[in-house]
Amino acid sequence: MIYRTPKYTKSFQCTADKCRDSCCIGWEITVDARTLAKYKRMRGALGEDIRKSLSPDGCFLLGENMRCPHLLKNGLCRIICEKGDAALCDICREHPRFYNYYGDLCEWGVGLACESAAQLILSAKAPLAFEEEEKEGEVEDCDEALLSLLFSEREKMLAFALDEKRGLSEKLFILESWAEDLQEFIDNADICKELFVFCAENQDIQSFFTEDRFAKYRKIILSLEPLSELWTARCENVSLPIHTDENGAIFSRLLAYFIFRYFLSSAMEGDCTAGMGLALFSAAWILAICESEGRTTLEGIAEAAKDFSKEAEYSEDNRDAVLEAFSAFNG
Ligand code: SF4
Repeated sequence: MIYRTPKYTKSFQCTADKCRDSCCIGWEITVDARTLAKYKRMRGALGEDIRKSLSPDGCFLLGENMRCPHLLKNGLCRIICEKGDAALCDICREHPRFYNYYGDLCEWGVGLACESAAQLILSAKAPLAFEEEEKEGEVEDCDEALLSLLFSEREKMLAFALDEKRGLSEKLFILESWAEDLQEFIDNADICKELFVFCAENQDIQSFFTEDRFAKYRKIILSLEPLSELWTARCENVSLPIHTDENGAIFSRLLAYFIFRYFLSSAMEGDCTAGMGLALFSAAWILAICESEGRTTLEGIAEAAKDFSKEAEYSEDNRDAVLEAFSAFNG
């Protein structure tokens, strides 16, 4: 199995006690069955405390201020301090990594909901450089012809999203048309015999940032289940962004992250517009939040991106609702 990841992923480091928005606060973690069995056998005070901290269905019950019961006052994890990383459950060990599987290919990376990962993603000098590694893994059946077409289009889309010569509005507008055309092609053409051709230069470009689109985006974001009340208030204050080319390189990397993570997985299920819709919506909404809050530095933008990700991307229900809103299956 080939494991493929953006090169920058290898530089990821959890900042642990220096983290200002720890993933050990606010999220109820479900412990996987294998680790649960290990915790049931663990001896000593830690084993006892872990067992006491679990709900009947195997979740760590959050303590005061929504903290994980094993998060020490100094910001470090007691389980790691006493037993090392190997004693963590799958979710705690893997966060903020994500994995997407396509046949004998596994694409993985780090997710935006972590402040350290967000800074890495937005500052990557070569966001399109990948590293591949061959490792054992379970190969799933997949439509090879479809994968080859979608993979090659997705690579072109990524290069287009990161093209410094184009403005953000133009990129978003064209990528939307690209995904729609590709959808039409996979719905109607014989992909083994016919060639898909999309020419960005021939598109009749209009502004992506329109009042109508933003009214739709606002409706979507406000329909999601908020994790914090502050988030709703922040979204209510957002207006149509005007300076859409400021910090273009940073927002393009953000766009590339969402396309890399979501386009291929939804397209492999026959839905090219859902993953792309989520990517365009996410990049545009984060840009709008940054403009309305006057965030212009990489750190400020990364923080807004992280907040958005926690609310709309890392809540599975919310992410599914966003994908649904842009799904080709919705007519
Ligand atoms: S959010 Fe990221 S940097 Fe912060 S504690 Fe979690 S993994 Fe570490």
